[in-house]
Amino acid sequence: MEVIKTENITKVYNETKIPVHALNGVDLVIKKGEFTAIVGPSGSGKSTLLNIIGGLDNPSSGVLSVGGQDITQLKESQLIDFRLNNIGFVFQAYNLIPVLTALENVAFIMQLQKKPKKEVHQRATELLTEVGLGDRLNNRPAELSGGQQQRVAVARALASKPQFVLADEPTANLDSKSAENLLDIMARLNQEENITFVFSTHDPRVINRAHRVVTLEDGKIVKDEHKQREEVING
Ligand code: ADP
Ligand code: MG
Repeated sequence: MEVIKTENITKVYNETKIPVHALNGVDLVIKKGEFTAIVGPSGSGKSTLLNIIGGLDNPSSGVLSVGGQDITQLKESQLIDFRLNNIGFVFQAYNLIPVLTALENVAFIMQLQKKPKKEVHQRATELLTEVGLGDRLNNRPAELSGGQQQRVAVARALASKPQFVLADEPTANLDSKSAENLLDIMARLNQEENITFVFSTHDPRVINRAHRVVTLEDGKIVKDEHKQREEVING
């Protein structure tokens, strides 16, 4: 099943004196259960592509479908709802809410979805336990390490049971051990629960863990490699 399909997506930033052509015709299909890395040099358009796939930014032209639905046609209010219910986000800088505990950060998304209180508490606890933070439920972000904060962010991204999770350089601020640990968790969620991940990175160790590596250069896909699971496991 295709969860993401972009057709000839372009993005031109016009705010500057000289327009920046960040994406120049991107065709990408992501299927359910894929574990895909978007790689490429700084400025190649990785964040722009992820922001567009996530409905956080509009393409200048082209079509984006999520789960078969063309989301470029949605009104802003519909798009907000769509994002909430279909897409999980993990950002480079964690973006947790500082005054909320780990549990409350994860619960927040489900509260926006108006899920029953008891279910929210139970699922938030389960998710945090799954990412190895069952003993940190009541800590605020400042009381957690970077790696732990990013694991809260992964738990939060999964809270709404999204169709896929987007992660823009999720390990960029982590030391190598925490990065490895985060990838272990993402890979396990992918394998055991068939959760679709699309993450950007330029960390070679993270790239090695991907099953599919899409390379961007100057806003275009120049390479799209699919690896066998065995190759990933054996490096
Ligand atoms: P990457 O994530 O691969 O480093 P980006 O998607 O952030 O690349 O950027 C792609 C190009 O678009 C770069 O040339 C960048 O400078 C430009 N760009 C990104 N965001 C903006 C913006 N808001 N306004 C103008 N130019 C931008
Ligand atoms: Mg970027």
